[in-house]
This record gives sequence, C-alpha cells and structure tokens, in this order.
Amino acid sequence: MSNRPTRITTDLDLGREGKQEGFLRLPHSVHRSAYGYLPIPIVSIRNGRGPRVLLTAGNHGDEYEGQIVATKLVRALAPSEISGQVIVIPMLNFPAALAGMRTSPIDEGNLNRSFPGDADGRPTAMIAHYVESVLMPQVDISIDLHSGGSSLLYIPGTLARHHPDEKRLATVLALVRAFGAPNAYLMAPGGEDRAILSAAERAGIVGLSAELGGAGMVTRETLAVTERGVVNVLRHLGVLAGTAEQRDTRIMRVERSGHYVYSPDPGLFEPMAELGDSVRKGQLAGRVHFPETPWREPTPVHFLGDGLVVCKRVPARVERGDCVYHLAGDLPV
Ligand SMILES: [Zn+2]
Repeated sequence: MSNRPTRITTDLDLGREGKQEGFLRLPHSVHRSAYGYLPIPIVSIRNGRGPRVLLTAGNHGDEYEGQIVATKLVRALAPSEISGQVIVIPMLNFPAALAGMRTSPIDEGNLNRSFPGDADGRPTAMIAHYVESVLMPQVDISIDLHSGGSSLLYIPGTLARHHPDEKRLATVLALVRAFGAPNAYLMAPGGEDRAILSAAERAGIVGLSAELGGAGMVTRETLAVTERGVVNVLRHLGVLAGTAEQRDTRIMRVERSGHYVYSPDPGLFEPMAELGDSVRKGQLAGRVHFPETPWREPTPVHFLGDGLVVCKRVPARVERGDCVYHLAGDLPV
C-alpha cells in the first residue's frame, strides 16, 4: 500500500450540513475516454451533532438488497429527521454493481478482498483505499450490506467480527440486536484481513456487515429484513428518532475450520441438506456426480463439524474447491 493521497475527488463537502448528492470521481483514462472518470454516486445527509454513519452496498455488485434499501433511504431521508450524519454509497464497487457482478469487469477486483487498498492501484484498490483512508476516519460506524452473491444463498443475518474486548463486542451485539435479522454471524477473530470489517477495525470504528439472502435475487422477505434492520440500527444509534423495534436474533459463531464444506471434485453436486437443517460432524452433506462418466461412483462429501446450515451454494455445477455449504454454531453461553 502506498502512502500517497487518494486520487479520487468529490464535489461533496462531507463536513457541510444538509443533504448533498453527487459523485466520487475515480480517474479512469481509457481508449474511449482519455480524461474520463468513474462516477460513484454518494449522498451525505448531515444535521447537527450525533453519530456519523457510513452506509454502503454494492461492495459486491451482484448483491441487491442493500443497493435497493440504500437507494430508498437516499430519497426518503431529510436532514431535519436525523441527528448526526449518514453517508450513503449504494454502488460501492461501481463497475461491479453496474455489471451485476461480484468482481469489477474493469480489473477483476473483489472489493471485499482489497482493503486497505492502494491509492495508485487499479480502480477496485483505489476504492478500498478511499473507504479506509478517507471515509472511515470521518465516521463512527460503517454498515456494509451484503447478500451472498450469485453463487450462495444465506439465511438472512447480520455479520460482525467477534471482538476479544468485551465492551467493543457489547457495542456490536447491541447493533446486531437492533438490526433484528433472524440470525447474526460472528466471525472468529483474525482471519480475512482484506475485508471491510477489518478495515473498520483498523480505522478504530465500529463495523457491521450482513448477508441478507443471495442467489442474485431479492425477495419481499429479505428486503423487509434489510429495510427494517437499517432503520432500526439508525434509531438505536439515535440518528433517527423513535425506538428500535425488538425482534429475536439467534447469535451464532462461524469458525474457519469445521464450518465450511468444499467440493472435492468437479461435477454436479447433489445436496443432502437444506438451509436451516441442523447437521452433525461426519453426516453426508451431498454427493458429486459425474454425468460425463456416468458409470463412475459419485464422491461423497461430509460435514466436518456440527452446526446449522446457514449458507448453501446455488449452482449445481461445481469445481474442486467450490464452497457448497457453510454452517454456524450457537455461541456458548
Ligand atoms: Zn458480498
């Protein structure tokens, strides 16, 4: 990562009161447009004192609940209704979101594996750098909305990093409960440090994420969970007036080993479990079939730990190394 300042500019003044709409301008000089820029839409709504919230979606471009709810909020929120600031970016990896793809068609960049980014890198790295180095130092909380992507389907849940500091963890759990999704997934400490939740941790702010559905679709249910969740979190923080509606959330942990199941072979995956099933270590998760060699015995795939099936692969065609399930376990009390 270079220490050079960002090359992204904006006509918004994030320190200014009121509602401002516009773009982040990411310089993008290409054959078609020598002095062009990529216009990443951004809206700032600021009113007096209060928490400052960065609300992002479209980090992965094929995850839509967050993009729709962020767009609705941009149009609905008036400065007079809020205390503090909400900065909304519905299409964070703009080229990916425009293409409806997880990664950017410009540079193949996966934004949520690109933090802390690079001011001098390709567009995806430049966006990551801008978020971590420019935006995060100006806010108290980062909320980044995901939905599994085209290849995965989730039981809707908030996602956060398990923090060893009890006070910090309590702050995150209060947000998770305010969001009120059916599940909450706490990731084990350490692990992936290129994701936005790690960026928030490095920036010293509170980070909350979510996996609200997936399969490249939206449903009434997942949109309702998302919209209610975001509004409730803003109420819980005092950014919006009113009290957060109380709902039960099952707080779960996700471990790096034991909870993820991968296909050992290329072929067609026959699932033996569905979302919401409780499974045991050693239980048959599915079989990989080989229609191109139909007389070959299918390869059995087993669960490597106990837990609840919270995520499953969508396409039946698999390669060796594709994740077919992931589990979550209840937090020990
Ligand atoms: Zn995602």
